[in-house]
Order: sequence, then C-alpha cells, then structure tokens
Amino acid sequence: TLSEAQPTTSSLQQTLAKVFGYTEFRAGQEAVIEHLLEGRDTLVLMPTGGGKSLCYQLPAVHQPGLTVVISPLLSLMQDQVEALQAMGVAAEALHSGLTSEQSLNVLRRLQNSEVSLLYVSPERALQHAFIERLQSYQPRFIAIDEAHCISQWGHDFRPEYGQLGQLRQVLPNVPFMALTATADAATQQDIIERLGLRQPYCHRSSFDRPNIRYVVQDKYKPFKQVKDYVRKQKGAAGIIYCGSRKKTEDIAESLQDAGVRAAPYHAGLASELKETTLRQFLRDDLDVVVATVAFGMGINKPNIRYVIHFDIPRSIESYYQETGRAGRDGLPAEALLLYDPSDAQWIRRILDEHDNEHRGIVERQKFSAMQAMAEAQTCRRLVLLNYFNEFSEKECGNCDLCLDPPTRFDALEDAQKALSCVYRVGQQFGISHVVEVLRGSKNQKVLEHHHHELTTYGLGRDQTHEYWYSILRQLIHRGFLVQDIRRHAALQLTEEARPILRGENTLELAKPRLNLTSSQSKITD
Ligand code: ADP
Ligand code: ZN
Repeated sequence: TLSEAQPTTSSLQQTLAKVFGYTEFRAGQEAVIEHLLEGRDTLVLMPTGGGKSLCYQLPAVHQPGLTVVISPLLSLMQDQVEALQAMGVAAEALHSGLTSEQSLNVLRRLQNSEVSLLYVSPERALQHAFIERLQSYQPRFIAIDEAHCISQWGHDFRPEYGQLGQLRQVLPNVPFMALTATADAATQQDIIERLGLRQPYCHRSSFDRPNIRYVVQDKYKPFKQVKDYVRKQKGAAGIIYCGSRKKTEDIAESLQDAGVRAAPYHAGLASELKETTLRQFLRDDLDVVVATVAFGMGINKPNIRYVIHFDIPRSIESYYQETGRAGRDGLPAEALLLYDPSDAQWIRRILDEHDNEHRGIVERQKFSAMQAMAEAQTCRRLVLLNYFNEFSEKECGNCDLCLDPPTRFDALEDAQKALSCVYRVGQQFGISHVVEVLRGSKNQKVLEHHHHELTTYGLGRDQTHEYWYSILRQLIHRGFLVQDIRRHAALQLTEEARPILRGENTLELAKPRLNLTSSQSKITD
C-alpha cells in the first residue's frame, strides 16, 4: 500500500513550496525523503545548519498519519513545534515540561488522529504506556534527532538514548530516520547497530566550512595573546572557550579591564545572568562571551567572527562543533586554537587514570586525533575533514599551514619505510609500536612479537622518535593510513598507499618541526 501512495518528485516540490515556502531542496534532502517514503531506514549526516529538520518535517506533512520525532533538547523541541504550528502544521510535543493537563490534551489529540508531527523526549518515548500507544497508532516513521547521543563513541552519550533500540524491536515495520551533525565512522556504525537500522540509505553532506580559517598558535602568554587578538577584532562578535569556570571569569575580567564588552558564561552562574548574557550577545550589546562548553547548543547567531579555544578540546567533534558557531552568515571567520603540548600531556594523564575502562580508551583515542590536528604539519582542514571520512587531496588555502607553509621535502623513501613497516607488523599495531620497530628498539613488545626479525626493523634508526611520529601522522592525514579506533588505533594501509609502496607516485611531506613535538616523546597511542 505504501507504493500506491508513493508521491512523485514534483509533488514533494509542491509541499516544499506550499508548506515551507522554499523553492529548492538543499543537497541531499530530496534523496533522503524519497528513500524514506519508499520505506527505507535512513541515516542523515549534515553539519549544523545544513537543514536536517526538513528531512523529517516535509515527509511528515506530505503524507497522512503520524510522525514521531525524538529529540533530547526541550528548548529546540519547543521552538520547532511553535514554528510548525505557525505554518499551520498540526505539531505537538510531549515531555516533562508540560502540566498534566497539557499532556492529557496532547494525548487526546493523538487519540483522535489530529496530530501529524509529535515531538517526544527519549524518556517519554521509552515509557511503557507510551510504547503501547505507538504500537496501536503505527506511526508512518520515527525520526531520531541528535542521534550521536545514542553512541558511547559519540561525544555526548545519553543513557536514555542508548535504549532507543527497544523501539525498533516493538515497531519492526516502521522506518527509522537517524540524524546527526557529528559522527565519525565508529559512531555511525554504532548508531546503525544500536537502532537496528536495516541497510539504511546514508546521506553524508560535506562538513567543510570554507569561510572559517583554522589557525593554531603556540600558547606562550595566553592572557596577552587573547587580549591582543580581541582588540584587533575591533568589536566583532566572538566566543572564547576555556576548560574551567574559574578561567572564564578571569579572562572575562581581564578583557573588561582592557575595555572590551565581555562576560563569562558557565553552568555555575545564575540562570537569569546566563539569559541576560545570551540576550545581550545575540543583540550585539556584548562582543565577547568567555565560556565553558555549557555555552553552545542552540546558539543561532549568524555574525560570530571568531572562536578562540584557550584550551585544547577533548575531541575533534567538540572542536568542530564549537568552531562551527563562527561564520554562519558565510562571511570570513576565524577559529584560533592556543596550543601548549604540556596541556595535552596533562589531559592525557587524566585520561590515563581511567585506563582500562572502555570509555577511557575511546576518550584517549578521540583526544589523540584532536592533538594530531593541533600538531598537524599539513593543511588543517584536510585533517579535520579526513576525521569525518571526507578525503581530498587539495589543500585548502585558508588555514595557517596553507598560508604559511612549513618546508617540504621529498618523502617518498621515508613514506615507503613507514608504510611497509605498518604492513610487516600485520596492520595490527598503533603508531608508537611502528616507530619502535622502525627505530630498531629492543623493547619487550618488539621482541615478544618477533618484530626484530622483520625486514623493516631498524630502517629508520637515523631519525628521532618525534621525526617518525610526525611522518606517520602526516601519512594518516593524507589518507595513506587509517587508525582503527576499535582496535587500539591500529594502523592500516588504504588503497592510496599502494602506488607509494610501488614507487609509482612522488610524495612531498612537511619537514617535521621538531621543536613543537619534542616534549611529546612519551605519547602512547
Ligand atoms: P540543522 O537541524 O541541520 O542544524 P535546520 O534544519 O535548523 O538545520 O536548518 C537550518 C536552516 O536552513 C533553517 O533556517 C531552515 O529553515 C533552512 N532550510 C532548510 N532547508 C532549506 C531549503 N531547502 N531551502 C532553504 N532553507 C532551508
Ligand atoms: Zn589548509
């Protein structure tokens, strides 16, 4: 019966124009909607602002019946419901913020089939009574927004989200759509498995934000660096992220002293104060918010010109999410990271305390990727996009390394040594072990695995640890190697590595800047 009701493209276009007032679909939206309407499970990866909501809103209003949207954020739910109602769509929300009277009212409307789009919190969606209702209503499909919250590999795991797989079990014939703005390969796979998506149609938009310039500076006098930077921006709007509440207050104060309209923002402040700060910032009455990660979700200010990271974030997802708040209007914006290798070592020490827990291992690997980005010797945008599995050969021309490149050298021979060493150890070991083998170390692990008998053993003896770390990381960034996050970041060769090993291609890499990495010799990824 589904196929009888299958709408043609032109009628989708009509709904787009009639209900939403848009003339064209954005990249990916139409294909996602068509596959969903054919009854396929779908996985939608689009950066923030990419237009995910339309992917479930349009099919929900396009066909009769009920669509259920599960969303973790009360405020966003409320915003969307109000906007939809204003457009004449029968949208409702069910969550803990309603009075029992409001709740009953929504349930009554559901019972009478008067609701087309129902937003629910995950807690609510998992209540027994609610599941029974869903079984009797048989919704047309279920959309799960912010789907990365379902995965322990994601950066924002929420236990109640982890349980949502139950819904699929009790509603086996209802198509599911999972949507997220941030997901690496492991998170994507985990979303698919936990929700039991069946051969989902996957849409992945480009995560590139070409108008954002990525810059990393050595952090030597951070207060002064920040002050000088902010002053040069002459009143443009910016966010400064830092790792502690205390620091947000100290930095805001030092900026205020320098005559900058700045305010701190963190979860420990009174909610009125936070609201005032947010409102002033949105109205351009405040130039700089100095914040912890508590400041972010749902900020929709188009003209933020810069985001400074006073401290290195714990993952590339967080970094991407936070820097992504700059330049929403498409005009040039800058993301500045102040990097001190000893900050990184300190974070590593904390992460090492949770040594054997699964979560600790994941967090360590995520942090390694972030650190690699901070220490990159090739285009930072390539590192970033590569993390999200977007591979490109072309450097961006809009990051510090592209604009002020380090010295290059013919690295074919070094790359061959490193890549064949990865191959010889069976693609089962991480960077650190491969470096040990290359440098001819006699450590226990090398001997245990008989790696001192390999032909590549000791081939790189003439260079330092740091040198080979840098070479291997560059090979990862360039897409010749990947790290398997599920297997202790074991290095594996990609297809692209073959012509290098056969000597069919030339290869230039950046001469390692050893002064930057010299304090890093103890890295154990
Ligand atoms: P996301 O949820 O991916 O962060 P949204 O769904 O909030 O992004 O969409 C971002 C903005 O883009 C919204 O203002 C939305 O109305 C707009 N938008 C979405 N799809 C289209 C389209 N096809 N044409 C024009 N604007 C669109
Ligand atoms: Zn670049």
